[in-house]
Amino acid sequence: MPSDMQVKSGIYIHIPFCTSKCLYCDFFSTPLKNESIRYDYEKAVIRELKRRLPELKGTVLRSVYVGGGSPSLMEAPFFSRISDIVSSAGTLLKDVEYTVEVNPHDISTDWIRELKDTGVNRISAGIQAFDDTVLKEMGRRTAVEDMINTLPDLAGSFKNLSVDMIYGIGSGRDIKSELSQIFEIIDPVHFSAYQYTPPEKKDAPAPLDEETSAAQEKTFTETLLKKGFRRYEVSNYSKKGFESVHNTTYWEMGTWLGIGAGARSFNSIKREHSFYDENTASFISGEGLSRYSPSLREQIEEFLLMGLRITEGIEIKRMENHFGTAFEKMIESSSLKSLIDEGLLKKNNGRIFCTEKGMDFLNTVLLKLFEFIKA
Ligand code: SF4
Repeated sequence: MPSDMQVKSGIYIHIPFCTSKCLYCDFFSTPLKNESIRYDYEKAVIRELKRRLPELKGTVLRSVYVGGGSPSLMEAPFFSRISDIVSSAGTLLKDVEYTVEVNPHDISTDWIRELKDTGVNRISAGIQAFDDTVLKEMGRRTAVEDMINTLPDLAGSFKNLSVDMIYGIGSGRDIKSELSQIFEIIDPVHFSAYQYTPPEKKDAPAPLDEETSAAQEKTFTETLLKKGFRRYEVSNYSKKGFESVHNTTYWEMGTWLGIGAGARSFNSIKREHSFYDENTASFISGEGLSRYSPSLREQIEEFLLMGLRITEGIEIKRMENHFGTAFEKMIESSSLKSLIDEGLLKKNNGRIFCTEKGMDFLNTVLLKLFEFIKA
């Protein structure tokens, strides 16, 4: 078992292909023009993964996450090859959370059956809304019928099933009814509920007003708490023991190796970021990888930004260990005290964390702390 102070790591693989573009989408995604591009892209992912895997040296690999785009457009052997590479590097696959993002529109019973034998042990299903009118407004290719047809099969094969939804978008929504319809067909152990931020493009749907959006978020929280979920991060809820291992590595500023066009990496030991250009052709040809080292101030900001998203917050000792200096030497104690006095932050058991009110005003909390960073 890794000790608390060992650097934890994850691998992220980006599959940029989608068969159509959702109107609200702000991710790097591109149409899958033909099979040969998919084949070349697969080869490039495998090549880069093998080439860059040594960058995880000195860390404990805990997760693999294939996101997109639409990873469900890839075939089972691709996921098996990733498992083989991870295993041959000496990691026991059974100790790794291996997630694939799935669009319920793309998959069949055969695809699910084959995926089960690849080492993948967690599914993140992109539902977004369980209402055809809203799905149309979002420009999703998925319909409620697709979900009714494929989600029970997925749930039958993968106990560790997460559901992704978006609020703050779509007219006349009844979030409570959407959730209850989802629970009628599946029993997920994890929910992500993200607030919609419109991308900067002309045809993007307008967001709902703040009040409606806040009411929808409240409905998510109340309904999921009643169902036995715990809100462990601003946008994430889970049953006990099913918190996302992969995302926790981001929030705790571990190391992650991102492979694929547009994918980003962070090496927590070297304190170095790297990213591939959002360009499929250059990724395939082995170009477009850049690296940069953030300043100390940027590193402290990132650490606070990620750490305060989770309800357990930041373990002060871990932060001191990460930066090799006392907390008071990084941040003015007076700023912490005033945020505690305002009821936005708490300090307890060697951790600082947001109160419920602080979570609602996370940006305000962060800006105040950033102002008082001593670097
Ligand atoms: S499926 Fe996901 S990545 Fe693809 S266009 Fe829709 S939101 Fe974007």
